[in-house]
Amino acid sequence: MPVVELNGIRKSFGAVRALDGVDLSIGDGEHVGVLGPSGSGKSTLLRVVAGLETADEGDVRFAGEPQGDTPAHHRDCAIVFQHFALYPHMTALANITTGLRYGLGLPKRAAEARARDLATVMQVEHLLDRKPRQMSGGQRQRIALARALARQSGVVLLDEPLSGLDAQLHSVLRLEIAAMLRAAGATAINVTHDQLDAMAMADRIAVINQGRIDQVGTPDDLYDRPATLFVAGFIGSPP
Ligand code: ADP
Ligand code: MG
Repeated sequence: MPVVELNGIRKSFGAVRALDGVDLSIGDGEHVGVLGPSGSGKSTLLRVVAGLETADEGDVRFAGEPQGDTPAHHRDCAIVFQHFALYPHMTALANITTGLRYGLGLPKRAAEARARDLATVMQVEHLLDRKPRQMSGGQRQRIALARALARQSGVVLLDEPLSGLDAQLHSVLRLEIAAMLRAAGATAINVTHDQLDAMAMADRIAVINQGRIDQVGTPDDLYDRPATLFVAGFIGSPP
């Protein structure tokens, strides 16, 4: 059974049709990239999955269960936002443990143990006492990722997790994040406008174009057999 399913999702903001009939199915432990240009509906898609936005039509299922109006904090997912969204007044440790303690109800000691484990994996254990402003962008993003993975939720949602990083850190974190998600066996939806990120990180890629998914396939499928000119243009090989 798929971990996440989207069936016929439509969402408009006034006259803007952000999502125009999206179907997508993500298997257990799969890393799916959603690749498309700015304004194509990627963030809206993630927000609908997370329950931060309500679809006008269609349904979202987690492990077969329709989510209906289930609020975000009751959904089995964790989201990493484009611009980290760490709590500025809290240390890195508190940023990771807050959701574990007050969301999942873990005792302080257990929450901190789990936070330290994830911080070790992300190589940020030496930063746990720092506040976000005392860290670089790359360090903040590692903490945000540790926070999402520490929840051990059914699915990790990443909204342009590498944007805003300098080129070198970008290419290092691209591989690290993919490896870490794989090592954790995490099911992930990773939204990006960067075809190299999608090609390097994802098991399958869904190419989104004006709120519709043009094609879903492995990076090789899309590269070798693009279904539309749009996909060909985005992936960079002629149809
Ligand atoms: P992407 O993440 O691919 O850049 P978005 O999902 O953010 O795209 O946006 C898709 C479209 O929906 C855009 O035209 C955007 O302007 C519009 N949109 C997104 N969120 C809102 C909102 N809260 N209010 C009005 N329009 C929105
Ligand atoms: Mg976006």
